[in-house]
Amino acid sequence: MAQETIFSKILRKEIPADIVYEDDRVTAFRDIHPKAPTHVLIIPNYNIPTANDVSEKDEAVLGHLFIVAAKIAQAEGIAEDGYRLIVNCNKFGGQEVFHLHMHLIGGKPLGMMVV
Ligand code: 5GP
Repeated sequence: MAQETIFSKILRKEIPADIVYEDDRVTAFRDIHPKAPTHVLIIPNYNIPTANDVSEKDEAVLGHLFIVAAKIAQAEGIAEDGYRLIVNCNKFGGQEVFHLHMHLIGGKPLGMMVV
């Protein structure tokens, strides 16, 4: 059983979040410290701690995550100009919350990805 994170509390509506999309498989809400005009986190409704923990059983929900990301980008009006989708993994990836999430970042030119 994966450890609870702050995102579990958001899913259960125990703490507030600016939710922009939710269905039976994924939930999307605005990042509390946005790095760009649009910064949305899209998460599965169950906890996969990191990208290392992904398995075949997660295939459909993670595919759905991409479909929802594209829908939100359209709704935010950033699809045509473009945006960045990021999944951080563990210490070197800069992961802070151990409930797998996709960052959808856009609304300004993001430049080349710096590593
Ligand atoms: P990571 O570094 O794990 O990929 O990203 C975690 C993200 O979650 C960070 O961008 C951080 O600002 C965001 N975050 C952390 N706690 C909360 C919270 O309680 N609410 C919201 N909306 N975002 C959070």
